[in-house]
Amino acid sequence: MGAAPTCEGRKVVVVGFGASGLAAARLCLAKGARSVVMNDRREAADLGEDRVLQLVREGARMELGHHEPSAFERADLVVLSPGVPRIPAVEALEATGVPVVGELEMASWYVRAPIVGITGTNGKSTVTTLLGNILRRAGFPTFVGGNLGEPLSLAVDTPAAEEGGRLVVELSSYQLEKTDYFHPHGAVWLNLTPDHLDRYPSFAAYGAAKARIFLRQTREDFAVVPGDDPVVLAFARAGAAPVSTYGAEGSPVRIHGEAIVAPGGARYPLDLLKIRGTHNVDNAMAAVLAAHLAGARPEPTYAELAAFEGLPHRMQLVLEDRGVVYYDDSKATNVGAAVRALEGVDRPVVLIAGGRDKGGSYEPLVRLLRVKARAVVLLGEAAPLLRAALGGQCPHHDAEDMFDAVRLARALARPGDAVLLAPACSSLDMFDDYRERGRVFAAAVRNLTGEGGAP
Ligand code: ADP
Repeated sequence: MGAAPTCEGRKVVVVGFGASGLAAARLCLAKGARSVVMNDRREAADLGEDRVLQLVREGARMELGHHEPSAFERADLVVLSPGVPRIPAVEALEATGVPVVGELEMASWYVRAPIVGITGTNGKSTVTTLLGNILRRAGFPTFVGGNLGEPLSLAVDTPAAEEGGRLVVELSSYQLEKTDYFHPHGAVWLNLTPDHLDRYPSFAAYGAAKARIFLRQTREDFAVVPGDDPVVLAFARAGAAPVSTYGAEGSPVRIHGEAIVAPGGARYPLDLLKIRGTHNVDNAMAAVLAAHLAGARPEPTYAELAAFEGLPHRMQLVLEDRGVVYYDDSKATNVGAAVRALEGVDRPVVLIAGGRDKGGSYEPLVRLLRVKARAVVLLGEAAPLLRAALGGQCPHHDAEDMFDAVRLARALARPGDAVLLAPACSSLDMFDDYRERGRVFAAAVRNLTGEGGAP
């Protein structure tokens, strides 16, 4: 493989005028592109005239309101923002040999410090944040972003991207699809369960997209994967980097006597952790191992594990009322996440589930609900599918909206139970995103319990 390309002297078209596209356009201008065209389906009025004018002043040209071939005329590099759909004119250009890359790929050409990339179906944001916090505490200038928060382009030319720095980057399968030279020094792959099957032709195709994280790794790099996941392990072993595992017998990081043990004899007692559930113990182990391999000593790791409270809408305790705890795990947008959320609650559960279906099977969830659920309250477009999957195996009730769902769940729960929002579906049928869904849930809980109990 040759050296990574550059933008210098190129005629670049950046597609998608969001935070990533804007950062990418500015980076191309700063790195000596011959021309930079910003393309978006939306018109200037919808994008914000001021933002558009500002970028024009900085030297970019606008092609707004369409994705016609004319926008891409003479382009010799196309940079896509994450989430941009297929565009025929871009595909036609790619077929003629013009490189089409993601914002993350392009930014990575200008990064000198080691990148630790985090992928997997679930737990990416949690591990990315936790690992970033540990590396910061360890004294490295650290950038945390990618699929979560800031685009990687914003890290370029900051201390985090120069020698001595560290970059912790969350990677979605879509972002990895659009990489080529992207070369993470550390590749962390947390798990693989069905998701996004509404957008991938098969589960294998979804796994193969994620496996691109290992593509450019060498023997000087490291891969971190769960020791008990044969599929992810096999993908990692097919790469060039040495593979380190966590969580299995013989793994360098594993559970031993109520503590996470790590290389060099470090011990992190499990009751140190504030984040809840067995899946978060896995997340902590992944972060401990990656932090060790990225050069952090045990002290900052210990301090951060004791401090980290987790991210909003991931197993977040809303409140306790009359012996019932209410958890918001609105981010459980697929079956695998909901299963792990349910496993992590050591009480009988009234589960609130449903939303927009993503094309996988609900069977793993139903199996667990049979033994753990007091009842299930169903919501949204996927309710008929969930109802069919549940059959007579577990009591279930239909709710009209989130308020109704919480009202029903509250009536069904007994003292000592948990009410858990872990929908196993996306939120987009009823809400803007999982955050709004979680906020509406928490507001309904507070309203119905009269703010009873302390969080
Ligand atoms: P991502 O960024 O991959 O979506 P998050 O850290 O935001 O991951 O967690 C999303 C949801 O996935 C959580 O709400 C929880 O239900 C579930 N989850 C978190 N970590 C794991 C894990 N290691 N394995 C399985 N499910 C997990």
